[in-house]
Amino acid sequence: MKQTDWDVIIVGAGPTGGRTATHLASLGHSVLMLEEHTEIGRPFQCAGLVTPKAMQEVGLFDSVLEEVDGARIHGPSGTLVPVGTDGKLRTYVVCRKKFDQGVVQQGMQAGATLWLDSRPTEAVVKEDGVVLNVESLGQEIELTCKLLIGCDGAHSWTRRHFKMGRPKEMMIGFQAEVLGYDGNPRWLDMYSGSEIAPGFFAWVIPSGFGSHRIGVWSTPERLNGRSVEQCYEDLKNHPLWKERFENIHEIARFCGPIPSGMVKKTVRDRVLLLGDAAGMAKPTTGGGIGPGFQQISGILSRLSEAILLDNLSEKALTKITSKHFKFMKKDQEKARKLRNLLVSDVIDGELDRHFDNFAKPEVLDLINEIGDIEKPVPLGLALIKKVPAFRRLALRAGSKLLFR
Ligand SMILES: Cc1cc2nc3c(=O)[nH]c(=O)nc-3n(C[C@H](O)[C@H](O)[C@H](O)COP(=O)(O)OP(=O)(O)OC[C@H]3O[C@@H](n4cnc5c(N)ncnc54)[C@H](O)[C@@H]3O)c2cc1C
Repeated sequence: MKQTDWDVIIVGAGPTGGRTATHLASLGHSVLMLEEHTEIGRPFQCAGLVTPKAMQEVGLFDSVLEEVDGARIHGPSGTLVPVGTDGKLRTYVVCRKKFDQGVVQQGMQAGATLWLDSRPTEAVVKEDGVVLNVESLGQEIELTCKLLIGCDGAHSWTRRHFKMGRPKEMMIGFQAEVLGYDGNPRWLDMYSGSEIAPGFFAWVIPSGFGSHRIGVWSTPERLNGRSVEQCYEDLKNHPLWKERFENIHEIARFCGPIPSGMVKKTVRDRVLLLGDAAGMAKPTTGGGIGPGFQQISGILSRLSEAILLDNLSEKALTKITSKHFKFMKKDQEKARKLRNLLVSDVIDGELDRHFDNFAKPEVLDLINEIGDIEKPVPLGLALIKKVPAFRRLALRAGSKLLFR
């Protein structure tokens, strides 16, 4: 007989779902994770960059394929801005399958249960709990829980079912796994320009054993009818860089969404959204693993108390989440505004001028001193405030962005 009554049911066993399960099960709650696929970590839709902070939290160093010390960032006309220092680790590149499986396994070791090939088909919130119809291994089962948590990714069923809004931006990412790229094993390459990644950038990430992940991301509006695959082809054939790509051999390719911009409603009565489901990916890098971890860890103790007291109304959940989520949302919005100001809403000529300024030794020093993938806002603000060439952007930025 399957257990049908749970304190918490989590829809989606990705990194956010697995981490949330670990936390809540460790605090003694009965937790069920529902995963629609028959295995964890598939399909693979990620460049696999995990920040040191997120990695420290889970300690899954056996999933690391490569350590990265820096990025060689290229302007549209080729100006090179190297950010980082040899031997000083900036980020990890992981095997996402191994990483996700490790995170979910930690949840199970803490006491949570995982059902694979299982998805909700209906959910009704009642005064004393949520009634959830689930299709599991081809069978319909009725479950109940005190709290339903949607960790079900960019196209979240939970978010749509409970009409909780949409992420502000939905970027499209395309990536190919290749052999034969001519790069440096501990450095990323990033390429910019409207032909290859309008408003954003293309990346080449070393992924161990001589392989690389070549990706491009942008928004549908900025792509203006082109596809991200076309941008990838244009990157490979770009006159400035095509030699680096001429011997590549593709092993795999995929496309996926990147939701960035916290949704309007992250809570309803007995329902909570976390991670990509809530639109938490970073507007500057598309990274979503760290923000998912940060979102749950900041509300954990109060959420656990509320589960114990069965005090999980929308009002109670708003009280628990509002301070932490508002802080994260504000930071995300600031990062987006700075990204737009410096990179995304800028035509190639202006971006080239920005790169010429980024490449000046004193500006590079500032970038290396303050630059942090996890916290892009302080760097963006420092560039605008301290670098004379960017000061005119301060007018466009406005006092709200600069001083609050
Ligand atoms: C091209 C690309 C590159 C990226 N690169 C990076 C990167 O380098 N670093 C980084 O941090 N982030 C990156 N991201 C973003 C990252 O993949 C996500 O932010 C991260 O996976 C979010 O974790 P999550 O657990 O919230 O959601 P997901 O990883 O999407 O997990 C959701 C889980 O829910 C399951 N699910 C969905 N619907 C249901 C349902 N109805 N029932 C049951 N289960 C369901 C899914 O199968 C999945 O297992 C990238 C994304 C793309 C597209």
